[in-house]
Amino acid sequence: MRLFNTLTGAVEPLRPRDEGRLGIYVCGPTVQGPPHFGHARTYTTVDVLRRFLEWTGLDVYVVRNVTDIEDNIIAKADAEGCTAASLAEHYTRVWEQEIGRLGIRPPDVTPRATGHVPEIHELIVRLIERGAAYPAGGDVYFSVRAFEEYGKLSGRRPDDLRAGARVAPDERKRDPLDFVLWKGAKPGEPSWNSPWGPGRPGWHIECSAMATKYLGADFDLHVGGSDLRFPHHENEIAQWEAATGTPFARMWMHTGMLTLDNAKMSKSVGNIIALTEATDRYGPATLRMFYLRAHYRKPVDFSEARLEEAAAAYERLAGFVRATAALDSDTPLDSTAREEFATAMSDDLSTARALAGLFDLVATGNQELEAGRTGRAAAHRDAVVELAGVLGFDFAETGAADQRLIDGLVAELVTLRDEARSQRDFATSDRIRERLRKLGVELADSRDGTRWHVARRV
Ligand code: AMP
Ligand code: ZN
Repeated sequence: MRLFNTLTGAVEPLRPRDEGRLGIYVCGPTVQGPPHFGHARTYTTVDVLRRFLEWTGLDVYVVRNVTDIEDNIIAKADAEGCTAASLAEHYTRVWEQEIGRLGIRPPDVTPRATGHVPEIHELIVRLIERGAAYPAGGDVYFSVRAFEEYGKLSGRRPDDLRAGARVAPDERKRDPLDFVLWKGAKPGEPSWNSPWGPGRPGWHIECSAMATKYLGADFDLHVGGSDLRFPHHENEIAQWEAATGTPFARMWMHTGMLTLDNAKMSKSVGNIIALTEATDRYGPATLRMFYLRAHYRKPVDFSEARLEEAAAAYERLAGFVRATAALDSDTPLDSTAREEFATAMSDDLSTARALAGLFDLVATGNQELEAGRTGRAAAHRDAVVELAGVLGFDFAETGAADQRLIDGLVAELVTLRDEARSQRDFATSDRIRERLRKLGVELADSRDGTRWHVARRV
């Protein structure tokens, strides 16, 4: 397997530190709100990388953190009149559910920032001891000038960054480039005790502490969106390497941004499409196909037309699998298709090329079917199911069109029930709820209306 390593700017062989076992750390969500369509691109990329490497026989261990304490979480909790912890807990569950719906396998470990305050303290203490950090009025800052290699990931060197930078009058840092490791708490803010007074961890330090806790120093692969390359990832490296003198991550993989009208999809820009809406509307397989048709490093702009193309592409695979479902295969295909698939995937995860190979298999398989050579057609189907499975497609899943019909029917019933309730006809509304429950569909009423999910299949 070869991957583009942002640290060196070259496509390089992936060589695990421990033979046969690959450790991946991916920056997880700041749980201040639900995931959007862009977030899932980065996590789908990790999912497909992991599935492929496991298929080649490697043991893969994935760590994805949860940033569960942060300024935006505190501000939003204040606005909603709840605690930061309960807001973070709520959105952690929402994330797990939404990402899970896409068939993205859960990480092996999901460490939370608030569960790793001792590890974060230890790292900060080491940085202070080595002269790479300093306490200032309840905060602690990292001293960027103290780490000579600062800028090696992003190419942004302190001398270039310095121009124009100034310390704001209310800031305690000595140098405008310095960044916060520990943030002293203002009255009323959630806080943890520390040698520097009550406060909370800065965002960057949690990833340095948690990645190395679960994967050790010099771990194999660090993944994140390209938006995090600077300053977040640059700072992750600086914190660990300045504290310990040992290397942090061997390889850095950065996923391209999902954009809307060519601007990064992000909460702060306000141009987001909620993941739950996209999944409801298009179905998980279409979203996965949408992401995988592009190379993971390239930015991709959201468009209806592209999603329709993705739906059609998935249907080409699924339609062939359906048409051959009842057929028994004769001898399996020779290894050519699998080898071509592996070659494409090993070449910096070229999923679009891997998919092109699958469409070729479908085309030949359809010809076999038309020619009445059903055993051959079924052999092609077996190869399609296996290789598409490595990309995370599961043909047992309901098709997007079927899903839209089901969603529409349930929504109609929920509307009827809401109408009955608003007329205080509770006998009817309860009957609808009960009948749906018998079909395995559970309704949950909340302030924002009624949501439903399939609790069990009948
Ligand atoms: P956040 O919670 O915004 O820090 O993002 C969580 C993860 O999703 C990070 O790895 C980000 O780099 C990634 N991410 C955020 N926005 C996008 C986007 N528009 N496209 C692709 N990845 C994104
Ligand atoms: Zn991170």
